[in-house]
Amino acid sequence: MSKDTAIERRERRVGRGADVPASWGLGEGQAIPWEYASAPEARDIVDIKPRYGLFVGGKEIAPRSGEWFTTIDPSTEEPLAEIARANAADVDHAVGVARRAFRRSWGDLPGAERAKYLFRIARILQERSREFAVLESLNSGKPIKESRDVDVPLSAAHFWYYAGWADKLDYAFPGRVAKPLGVAAQVIPWNFPLLMLSWKIAPALAAGNTVILKPASSTPLTALLFADVCRQADLPPGVVNIVTGPGEIGMSLVRHPDVDKVAFTGSTAVGKLIGKAVAGTDKALTLELGGKAANIVFDDAPLDQAIEGIVNGIFFNQGEVCCAGSRLFVQENIAEPLVAKLKDRLSTLRVGDPLDKNTDVGAINNAAQLAKIEELVESGVAEGAEIFQPACELPERGFFFRPTLFTGVAQSHRIAQEEIFGPVLSVLTFRTPDEAVEKANNTPYGLSAGVWTEKGSRIFAIVKRMRAGVVWANTFNRFDPTSPFGGYKESGFGREGGMHGMHAYVRLEDR
Ligand code: NDP
Repeated sequence: MSKDTAIERRERRVGRGADVPASWGLGEGQAIPWEYASAPEARDIVDIKPRYGLFVGGKEIAPRSGEWFTTIDPSTEEPLAEIARANAADVDHAVGVARRAFRRSWGDLPGAERAKYLFRIARILQERSREFAVLESLNSGKPIKESRDVDVPLSAAHFWYYAGWADKLDYAFPGRVAKPLGVAAQVIPWNFPLLMLSWKIAPALAAGNTVILKPASSTPLTALLFADVCRQADLPPGVVNIVTGPGEIGMSLVRHPDVDKVAFTGSTAVGKLIGKAVAGTDKALTLELGGKAANIVFDDAPLDQAIEGIVNGIFFNQGEVCCAGSRLFVQENIAEPLVAKLKDRLSTLRVGDPLDKNTDVGAINNAAQLAKIEELVESGVAEGAEIFQPACELPERGFFFRPTLFTGVAQSHRIAQEEIFGPVLSVLTFRTPDEAVEKANNTPYGLSAGVWTEKGSRIFAIVKRMRAGVVWANTFNRFDPTSPFGGYKESGFGREGGMHGMHAYVRLEDR
């Protein structure tokens, strides 16, 4: 880390733009007088090896490239382990292994037999949940209370759910025969490493496909621990393969001629490249890309509940969530009290050590992402929006960013247009339902949205007009394996979760 950066980081320790909200009765730069004793989760349940090879054919192998890279803890910038850097020959080998496993063992296995393996994986994930939660927080920077209560339980739930479908495909698609596609190439991001793995692998395996998964370079560790779960579950070798390496390895995998299905979650820019690479082939494709969700609050909404929903919508996982409620639309007549309450609530958020059970906002996942957040926040200030950041101590080391709120935001501001993927909320106002809908839909994205009102009829009226794959009513960021998730427009296409998620991994034939 350069000296300049360290100085800049220290400067960020003081909140900006607004002083601490008046209701706290404190002066500028003073912290909220709530003391918490630290409550660190013990990390000794996790045994991190110095080095991890590729997981191909049921065993760990050295990369043909002979190269390795380092994965770090984003909250301390300390190295955690060395990871194999695959090359195109490694990808080719992994695809060949997955193809053989599809032909020889997995593709023809009766659904009830496949289900047993998925149930076993689900159970092992639950048994080893604390280990997974600690490792996820160490490698991704997310608070332990989120990895423990959301990421890991939901990951296990996906395996339980799709295990249930494995022997019922005839009922899922009545009158049709569901056949697996073959070999699936799956490229996932760093914001929910284990959960995205589960969203991808569980339906693929339940339908009878074999997979090669490429985790994000900054968060490979829980995928590599999952390799151990596959061995523990006695999954036939080659059914799940994990190949680590940079983005270009993701592209080699996607382009490989012996791949039948491509599933990608990540940025819209890379999603477009993948779309181009797959175009003209007969590979099946699903893309789950970025978002700029609108969270709309009407004047009849229960304000305190809405505040919790807004905070959860944008500060959950440091805002590094594709469906984050990053644009808040508030009906004009309640804007003032709502923003005041929001500032108070922001001032209670605890930012810091991801392994502390009190932490609400952990570390940003990587230095590049932190730089992107900083740049976009500066653009908001330069374009004339009013910034509020609560006064709170940020750790000296690691990639931390203070929860940030912008008011006076115009539709044309970059902070209202671009996906920030950080703990930054833009507040805009509206007067009528029509105006709310028009402004909310004014985005190239269409992944998710939220609406807060006491009137059921208004919920239905608004939801019908929102151009978003998921719309939450009087809640936000709720996930369930039975419920399909996915986007419109530049947020991608295809659905994950529910029966729709299974559909993405089968070829339907007439009986
Ligand atoms: P990317 O889309 O670059 O990364 C997602 C995955 O794709 C990673 O496994 C990455 O590998 C891989 N990848 C990168 N380049 C290619 C390529 N050319 N071909 C195939 N695979 C590739 O996201 P970033 O991590 O760079 O984040 C950039 C921005 O994307 C964020 O600021 C955020 O706005 C958005 N984003 C959206 C996510 C979502 O869920 N919708 C998730 C993550 C980011 P590697 O890690 O090795 O580069």
